[in-house]
Amino acid sequence: MSHPINPPIYWSSIFMFDTSEDLIQAAAQARRRFVDGETASDLYTRWDNPTVRYLEQSLATLEHAEEALAFGSGMAAIATACMAFVTSGDCIVTSPALYGGTTEFFGSFLSRFGVEALAMEKDFSKAQALIAERKPRIVYIESPTNPTLEIFPLRELASLAHEHGALAFIDNTFATPALQNPLDYGFDLVIHSATKALGGHHDVMGGLVAGKRPIVDPIWQTRKLLGGILDPLAAYMIYRGMQTLEVRMTRQSETALGLARFLETHPCVEQVHYPGLENDPGYPIASVQMKKPGSMLSFLYRGTGKETAAMIDRLHHFHRAGSLGGVTSLVTQPATTSHLHVPPETRRRLGITDNLVRLSIGLEPLNVLVDDLNQAMRL
Ligand SMILES: *Cc1c(COP(=O)(O)O)cnc(C)c1O
Repeated sequence: MSHPINPPIYWSSIFMFDTSEDLIQAAAQARRRFVDGETASDLYTRWDNPTVRYLEQSLATLEHAEEALAFGSGMAAIATACMAFVTSGDCIVTSPALYGGTTEFFGSFLSRFGVEALAMEKDFSKAQALIAERKPRIVYIESPTNPTLEIFPLRELASLAHEHGALAFIDNTFATPALQNPLDYGFDLVIHSATKALGGHHDVMGGLVAGKRPIVDPIWQTRKLLGGILDPLAAYMIYRGMQTLEVRMTRQSETALGLARFLETHPCVEQVHYPGLENDPGYPIASVQMKKPGSMLSFLYRGTGKETAAMIDRLHHFHRAGSLGGVTSLVTQPATTSHLHVPPETRRRLGITDNLVRLSIGLEPLNVLVDDLNQAMRL
């Protein structure tokens, strides 16, 4: 007997039953049956699909979670996970900076349903005071943050949330499970945009959440209703990307550290944000809670916004594209792209100045990337 080494792609929207009795039994299951292997309870692909579940189980293993769920995009994962738990009148306390789509979802979508989102300040005692006072339903963070790579203490934040009756959610897209496992530090839910490093090749969109069964179960119920489940082919592609996640993240992280060290000493660079540099404010915590500091870094170019854009335009190996985590190195100027619609005052507070450059490091050799930046940067 032999078996395929890869999971089959179940291109099927429905599952048929041998007898009416079997169908009635399956349909009567109001809740998900958490079975692995055989797909005894599969009924309809908006609920569950064996290929999608294969991916979900792989991520659950990587994140040290009981269960995981896959979605058509990172935003679908974020929106579904939050909507599974909030009701009108609730509040969500977030890290000072979040992914743009998440900020917009909280600020202009959830707010219409009477759910308020409040950003905490970097200062931990102020965050503590805010959570104690507002008693949020969810404490929702990112670490490292986009685009200034700040690090938050995961264990402290999770226990602070729990102390005040809140759930602790984290968007772990930047770190990936290869470098950081927030559930081990007490977080209730880990969220990913699989479009980034999990897929890893800039060719597929997806999102994932992982956590304990009592947390994941209501999200499954909500996914069934909102219909954001991942497509089976996309699930296969993300699964395939995840086979090399650890190798890619290790290499990309090493290259990022090399680049950060190069940038740190370059006369055209004012400051480098990278939690792998010993003098970075995030270093002490990152070196405890992350296996490696990751593939993302940003720096302040010695020049105006226009000069920064011109420098970016001189790059050959860094592609000008607003994503991250893939095999190809990417560059953006956050002030004019991802954070263009953030009010200038907020941008200043978050350190997103016009000369800030964000890099996502891919698999190119370090010297190729160093040479590329070196030829592009001019005093
Ligand atoms: C890209 C991204 C998202 C959104 O994911 P999509 O797959 O684009 O919907 C959420 N969080 C972070 C940190 C991201 O980088």
